[in-house]
Parts: sequence; C-alpha cells; structure tokens
Amino acid sequence: MAREQADIVIVGAGITGCAIFHELSKRKMGKIVLLEACRIAGKTTGQSGGLIRQFALEPALRACQIEGFQYYHRFHREVGSSCSFHQTGLISRISRASVKSLRVCKNELNPEHYPVIWHDDGDTIRIHEPLAGSVNPVQTSQAWVSAGKAHHGVCYENRPVSRILGDTTGVQGVETSCGEIRSEKVILAAGPMTPALMRTVNLECKIRIKSFQYHLYQRASTLFETAHLDFINDFYVLPLRDGNVLAGCLHQDEPVIHGSDPLPVNNHTAFELHVLIAQQFPALEKAEYSVHTSVDTFTCDGRTEVNAIMPVKGLIVVPPANGGGIKTAPAIAKRITAMLIPHGTA
Ligand SMILES: Cc1cc2nc3c(=O)[nH]c(=O)nc-3n(C[C@H](O)[C@H](O)[C@H](O)COP(=O)(O)OP(=O)(O)OC[C@H]3O[C@@H](n4cnc5c(N)ncnc54)[C@H](O)[C@@H]3O)c2cc1C
Repeated sequence: MAREQADIVIVGAGITGCAIFHELSKRKMGKIVLLEACRIAGKTTGQSGGLIRQFALEPALRACQIEGFQYYHRFHREVGSSCSFHQTGLISRISRASVKSLRVCKNELNPEHYPVIWHDDGDTIRIHEPLAGSVNPVQTSQAWVSAGKAHHGVCYENRPVSRILGDTTGVQGVETSCGEIRSEKVILAAGPMTPALMRTVNLECKIRIKSFQYHLYQRASTLFETAHLDFINDFYVLPLRDGNVLAGCLHQDEPVIHGSDPLPVNNHTAFELHVLIAQQFPALEKAEYSVHTSVDTFTCDGRTEVNAIMPVKGLIVVPPANGGGIKTAPAIAKRITAMLIPHGTA
C-alpha cells in the first residue's frame, strides 16, 4: 500500500472542509491534503438552501455568522472567483405560537448591531433582516478548493478515509482506500460521518445528527418573495436559488441515533405535511413535489467554538454549527487556522 506524508490532513470536502483547506493552503502551512469520500460538496452541503444571515441570539454563533456574512460579501477579493453572493434581505414570518419555541424575543434584538425590523401583524410576526441573502454552497466549496490548489494544496476526491491512525495519545495520520497518509495533524470535517471516524480512535462524539424530512416543491419559489422564511404552525418554507422551494416540519426534523442514514420519510406524514402547507399557501396545492430526507450535524451544547481540547494530540474535530454550516464556515476556518498557527507567527 502506498504511503504519503502531509503536514495537515482534512477529512471531508463539504463547505467546512473546503473553507479550512483554502485558509490553510493560503497561509502556506506545509502540505495540506483534503480527502473526500465522494465529490466536493456532494453531501449535506450540496442539498443546502445556501441562506446566509447574521441574526442569531446566541453570541458565539452570532459572531460567526456576522463574520461569515462579511466574508461572503468580499469573497471575490479573498478567493479570486464568485460564490454567487446575493444580498436580498430576509423576511421571516413566525406565528405567535412558534415565537417561543424559536426563542425569538424582541427585547434581545440589539438594534445597534442588527438592523432588524420587527412587524407585529397580530397572529404572525414578521422579522425583516436586510443583512441576509444567499450563496451557492457547491460553487463556494469548489472555488475554495481551486484556490487552495493554486496555493499547492492537494485534494483527492473519491478517497474515503476508513480510519484515523493513532491512539488516544496522539494522531499519526489516516488510512484511505489508496493507502495511508501520515500526518501529525488531522482535522475532521466529515459532517454526519464524524462520530464514526472518532470511534476509530475510541472517542465518543457529542455531536448530534439531525434528520431533515422535507418536501421539495419544484419551481414554486416564484410564488414567494425571494428571501422569505416562514415558520408557521411549526413548518418552514425556504425558497432555493435554483427555483425550488424546501418545506419541512420543525417537529419532524428528528435526531438520528446511530449511523449516517437518515430516517426514511414516512409517506403518510409527508402527505399530511403537504396538506398543511397547501392550507397555508394555496398556490402550492397543485405544485409538483417530491420528498427528500437529508442529515445535518449540530453541536450538542449550542456553542460554536472550535473544539480545541481534544484528548487526542493533533486531532481537531470541527463542531458543526447550530444554525447552519454555510453561514459559519468562513469563521470556523479562521478559528481552526488560528489554532494551528504557532504562537506569534500569525
Ligand atoms: C435541507 C437542508 C437545508 C439547509 N439549508 C441551509 C441554509 O440555508 N443555510 C445554512 O447556513 N445552512 C443550511 N443547511 C446546513 C448546511 O448545509 C450544513 O450545516 C453544511 O452543509 C454542513 O457542511 P459540512 O462540511 O460540515 O458537512 P457535509 O456537507 O456533510 O460535508 C462532509 C463531507 O465529508 C465527507 N466524508 C464523510 N465521511 C468521509 C470519510 N470517511 N472520508 C472522506 N470524506 C468523508 C462527505 O462525503 C461530505 O462531502 C441546510 C442543511 C440541510 C440538510
């Protein structure tokens, strides 16, 4: 079996791994190798709505989202190509009943930092965030990888990592389908597969994996304002860049207990969800729809800080953000880089 040497190995080329790859390669931190089991942005990232916003009540998450938004705004200058950033603003419509469960509280919005406009419409509340919009997550990830390669980073697609080499004292690299890659630093950004890889070095993972059970309404987004997020009766409607609309039910987004397979969609529930949505948006009653299930990962404790204190020397596990990884990827990449840069050389 072939054996390769790297200074830093990143496992997973979703939006997070690609952001880290670009940041580390740009800073010339030795040989950076990005390993992807299938193709760039081929999993959760490829299914994402790509919505970006600054609004979040949690301070750590808010800081990451603000940083992310600003980065995407100047993406072309940073990376040299486009991420299809569009600042459209966002209107979230929330029923009074859902306000509590979504932890939205008018008093906690700080108008100095958030130009958020709150409209009280009686049964519903509308929150208008001008500083919101979207990016294309696949294009963004690919742009980061191309720029990283231009800085001599190496990316292998179709190269699954089967285990982390090392033990609880320190990491020595990874084993892939094409041989070992030796490295004293491994960054795990494998999304829902992260817990399985951690178990190969006997680490228990506290990351929660959540299954999204949602409908995709084809070309229905023309029925909505472009940036419009509805949380009515606990379901959400999110128009996508490609002209489709994602809709799902908050209480049907379930934690996945084991493994990486999302829970299969129950057709009866899916039908009920469609009826519920059609009641709220009559124009969607006849819209063609299909049912998809996808998974995403979340930090269990709601923090968005990089988990620096791993019991295994050299292993960094990227904590998935509670509020959506597209928004936070640039900030997470900067934090990981700061951890890896020797003190005083940043
Ligand atoms: C339906 C849906 C809509 C969403 N909408 C939004 C939104 O509008 N805005 C937002 O900010 N967020 C949104 N999110 C969340 C966001 O898409 C995710 O948080 C983000 O894409 C996660 O990126 P990631 O890189 O952590 O994980 P992934 O995209 O899952 O990337 C992990 C990568 O690791 C690879 N991998 C796994 N195991 C291995 C292995 N053993 N060896 C090598 N590679 C491996 C996988 O193939 C994958 O490519 C949405 C999520 C879903 C499901």
